[in-house]
Amino acid sequence: MTFIPLHAFSDNYIWIIKEKDSSRFWAVDPGDAKVVIEYGNQQSANLEGIIITHHHSDHTGGVQELKDQYHCPVYGPQHLVPLVTHPLKEGDSVRVFSTEFSVLETPGHTLDHLCYVSDQAAPALLCGDTLFRGGCGRIMEGTPEQMLNAMNKLAKLPDNTLVYCTHEYTLANYRFALHLDSNNKELTKAQQECSQMRKNNEVTLPSLLALEKATNPFLRTHIPRVVAQAATQLGENIANDSVSAFSQVRRAKDSFS
Ligand SMILES: [Zn+2]
Repeated sequence: MTFIPLHAFSDNYIWIIKEKDSSRFWAVDPGDAKVVIEYGNQQSANLEGIIITHHHSDHTGGVQELKDQYHCPVYGPQHLVPLVTHPLKEGDSVRVFSTEFSVLETPGHTLDHLCYVSDQAAPALLCGDTLFRGGCGRIMEGTPEQMLNAMNKLAKLPDNTLVYCTHEYTLANYRFALHLDSNNKELTKAQQECSQMRKNNEVTLPSLLALEKATNPFLRTHIPRVVAQAATQLGENIANDSVSAFSQVRRAKDSFS
C-alpha cells in the first residue's frame, strides 16, 4: 500500500491510498474535489472510498462532489451523516484494500475528531489535525484535557508508526519547538533536515512516532524544561499538573510569533 500526498489550498495534504499496480484508490480528507478528480484522471484510476477525520471544510469540502462522481462510501464522524455513509466510533474499523484501520476518537481540535491506525507491521496513522510533525492542532472545540488525552492515546502506538498529518506546518512548528527545547539534538537535526526538504519543495511527511515523541513539545509536556520555557514566555508560574502544563504549552504556541 502506498500513500501519496496531493497538495490542496495553501498547505493541506489530501492523502491518497493506493495499492501497487491497482487502478483503485482511496482519499483521506478531500477538502478539494478537483485535485482528487485530476489525480484519478491522470492515473486512470477509480476512487473507491473516502475517509474523513473531522468536519472542517478544508477536510470535507470536496466530499459531496466526489460522492456524486464516484458513488463511493464515505467513512467518518457520526454527525456528518448523510455526507458520511458509514459513521464510525471508537473501536470500529475501516477496511482499505486488504488493510484494516482502527478508529480512535481524539476530540480536542474538534469534538468529532477521529484518527485511524492501520494493522500493518509499520502502522500508518491518519491523524488529521490532531497531531502534526512537531506540533498539534489548535484546541478549537474541545478542552486541553481532551487534547492531552488524544496526545497520550497516540503516544501509546508503536514507535515505528508512520504519521500522516494533513498540513505542511513542520518548519513553523519546529521554530516553536526549538524555542522551548533548544538543547534537543534530535529536534535540531530534524529541523535542519526539514529545512533542506522544504528548500527542495519536498513534503516533510510522513513523520515517525518515535521522532515525534523525541521532538514534539505537545508529546513532551511531562518534561519540566519544556513547560518551564512556555511558562516564562507567558509570564506565568510553571503549571503543577499535567493538564495545566499541556494548556500552558498550547497557549504559548498560540501566542508565539
Ligand atoms: Zn481542522
